Amino acid sequence: MEIQFLGAAGEVTGSKHSVEVMLAGKIRHFMVDYGMFQGGREAANKNLESLPFAPKDLDFVVLTHAHIDHSGLLPRLCAQEGFAGPIYCTSATFELLKILLRDSAHLQRADVERAERKQKAGKWRGDMPIALYSREEVETTLTQFEVLEYGESIELAPGLQLEFHNAGHILGSAIAVIDVAEDGAQKKRCVFSGDIGMKGKVLMPDPDLIKNADVVVVESTYGDRLHRSLRDTEDELVEVINATMAGHGNVVMPAFAVGRTQEILFLLIDLVRRGRLSHLSIWVDSPMATAATHLTQHLFSHLDGESQATFEWYRDNPGSVDLRFIADVEESKALNKVKGGAIIISASGMCDAGRIVHHLASNLPRAQNAIIITGFQSYGSLGRRLVDKVQKVRLFGEEVPVRASVHTIGGLSAHADQAGLLDWLKGFERPPKTVFVVHGEPESSSVLAQSIREELHWSNVIVPERLHTYQC
Ligand SMILES: [Zn+2]
Repeated sequence: MEIQFLGAAGEVTGSKHSVEVMLAGKIRHFMVDYGMFQGGREAANKNLESLPFAPKDLDFVVLTHAHIDHSGLLPRLCAQEGFAGPIYCTSATFELLKILLRDSAHLQRADVERAERKQKAGKWRGDMPIALYSREEVETTLTQFEVLEYGESIELAPGLQLEFHNAGHILGSAIAVIDVAEDGAQKKRCVFSGDIGMKGKVLMPDPDLIKNADVVVVESTYGDRLHRSLRDTEDELVEVINATMAGHGNVVMPAFAVGRTQEILFLLIDLVRRGRLSHLSIWVDSPMATAATHLTQHLFSHLDGESQATFEWYRDNPGSVDLRFIADVEESKALNKVKGGAIIISASGMCDAGRIVHHLASNLPRAQNAIIITGFQSYGSLGRRLVDKVQKVRLFGEEVPVRASVHTIGGLSAHADQAGLLDWLKGFERPPKTVFVVHGEPESSSVLAQSIREELHWSNVIVPERLHTYQC
């Protein structure tokens, strides 16, 4: 078996793992995830790179979850590069993808059109954005999906079985367990963690533990860090919101439309329910987040019991939180005139695209406002520069001063921290023969790898290099 890491090696985005196995005299080649690189110019260039193999020769793709950094280049692979085979994912992932991929195509086109307008007016400096695919190409891609549920086993080729388990990261997120019986070799089990959720979190169940594996590919977004406790995180959030509201400012929270937005909403409602925050005025400005929130409510059975209780309380006390979902662009622009008292939740989570950019442009220059960053901000993204406390940023080709306060609240992460990742790995009853540590910045991955060696006493722990091929 050969595994090549085409992305998420030495960084958190662009998850793309290529696997080749020999089955019944034939080489079978598949991908686990096919994500977009995100954050800055280098990422944009990598998204345009050609593949080291012919896409039409791929047999299938296994998709762990809907986030764009795991799924976002599928329309290039399918509609543009000729991959016509099946893509396997859970049904909830497929539902979310319909929203996310269409929105991704829409955002890319909007970026290009805006840049062209600005360029014509002589107001654009820097590289012109390129759309990676069109809405039509997304529709073609969506016809290639095959869904299966958690715990359902499916034979993808003679001697190759796939089963998904719950990763507890976002709706539909899965750990992919792949059993392979290669010619002349013992049966092997490969486990791809996808993104692993935090234990004991709102909305999502704990990640499933897998008992045995020969090869494990594990994420390491927060491999070098421990999140603050949920209690400390809440205290921090309550403090920032209360201080900002008292000072007549707005709170702007950039958030992934899928997963994070629903969790933040849930937490804010729950804080009001428990009397820790008083009446709130919340605006969710992202058509995709609105759709995903409806879907979350619809797929209620995926929520844990405590979360259901909070939603029921909100249903019975609708006046407690003034919650508005913004659908059209005009309404979104009108929100720029609200100078205080609003909590604005908008996508994208790393602030690089979408309506959040407008909200930052109008809220960053005023000192009474607060920006609360809750998700991971990859190197090169606008969100990362805000976290790193830059004095000014360039938005829509124009300079904007950063006077609003910027707060990073790590405890709300959708990713397990170092202790959570080690706990998940402890679920394996015997040490796997090989562990690959991916999906982290170099420091995070190497710190997690070292902790696995020291705490779990597993010997063969590798931080793979991008584009290198490994035999297992
Ligand atoms: Zn994810």
